[in-house]
Amino acid sequence: MKPQVYNFCAGPAMLPTAVMAKAQAEFVNWQGKGVSVMEVSHRSKEYIAIAEKAERDIRELLNIPNNYQILFCQGGGRGQFAAAPLNLLGDKQSISYIETGEWSRAAIVEGKKFASAFVHKAMTRDSNGKVCVEDSSLWKTDPQAAYLHYCPNETIEGVAINEVPQTDLDLVADFSSTILSQPIDVSKFALIYAGAQKNIGPSGLAIAIVRDDLLNKAHIDTPSILNYTTLAGAGSMYNTPPTYSWYLAGLVFEWLKDLGGLEAVAKLNQAKAALLYDYIDSSSFYNNDVAPSNRSLMNVPFTLQNDSLDAEFLKQAEENGLVTLKGHRIVGGMRASIYNAMPIEGVQALVSFMQIFAKSHEV
Ligand code: PLP
Repeated sequence: MKPQVYNFCAGPAMLPTAVMAKAQAEFVNWQGKGVSVMEVSHRSKEYIAIAEKAERDIRELLNIPNNYQILFCQGGGRGQFAAAPLNLLGDKQSISYIETGEWSRAAIVEGKKFASAFVHKAMTRDSNGKVCVEDSSLWKTDPQAAYLHYCPNETIEGVAINEVPQTDLDLVADFSSTILSQPIDVSKFALIYAGAQKNIGPSGLAIAIVRDDLLNKAHIDTPSILNYTTLAGAGSMYNTPPTYSWYLAGLVFEWLKDLGGLEAVAKLNQAKAALLYDYIDSSSFYNNDVAPSNRSLMNVPFTLQNDSLDAEFLKQAEENGLVTLKGHRIVGGMRASIYNAMPIEGVQALVSFMQIFAKSHEV
């Protein structure tokens, strides 16, 4: 029997156990056809039915208005760092970017290849010395910019912006590590995109949700595979899509609907995150450096008071079935990614382990 393992990887992240069980049951004999989903044509009516259902389900889950296209893209989140400017710049020369961490910085680096970037660094510290993001009313933007880009959840630093920013510009957001974790008012955005490998499904897929009026203005040199208008016209099948990832994403969407939709999922996520943050805050052995108002519900970075114990912590955690807790190489420390698929039992097991570890190493 598989040992009980809780995988806290930031991505590719764990998939829901129920989804894995269904995929496993259908793996080599899908719909009794004697073949796997990954072996059938993306043009077959059976596969098209899967693809269309996945699209309908994510539309329902996120309550995506009819004047938005849902595109199943390739090239991951980073592909969208280029696709967004190529498709949305039109005759504008500049993009306003809000910098809050590594991923928004990476989007800026890519965007600068296509436009001038007007960057506002919004990270600061609150009166308790904790990392926080300035209120969006203080953000400086370029009124001539084609759009304002920001990252609502910085996966590496565990910093989240929970309010939809106030701006007169079209809003573009990299929701890679927070999509489907709570409801979003899609109508406030021009473009939402997300790499799949956290809350959607396996890597190899990215989803772009784009408002109709932004189609038909892609730069002439835009590669067809990144062109939203081409993808929309082809039902996201301009080329062969990552069919198995799309199928698994569809199973994840069904699972989310069975859980009661995103309001219900958000409550579960809040409960999981509260358990972990409350314990960290109650302990002098562990620390999280982010102000409560900007803490991520998905990625919880923390440090040990004595970082010479990091390796021992990770080793013992793994021995206890708690894997991939090492923080990103840029920031160090630990990081527990607790996306939708992480059950509360996984967070409880982590907190119990952290308590025992602290007790046996406190001086
Ligand atoms: N944006 C965010 C917020 C991410 O967390 C990541 C990856 O972890 C990316 C973009 C890049 O995604 P990909 O590796 O799919 O290109």
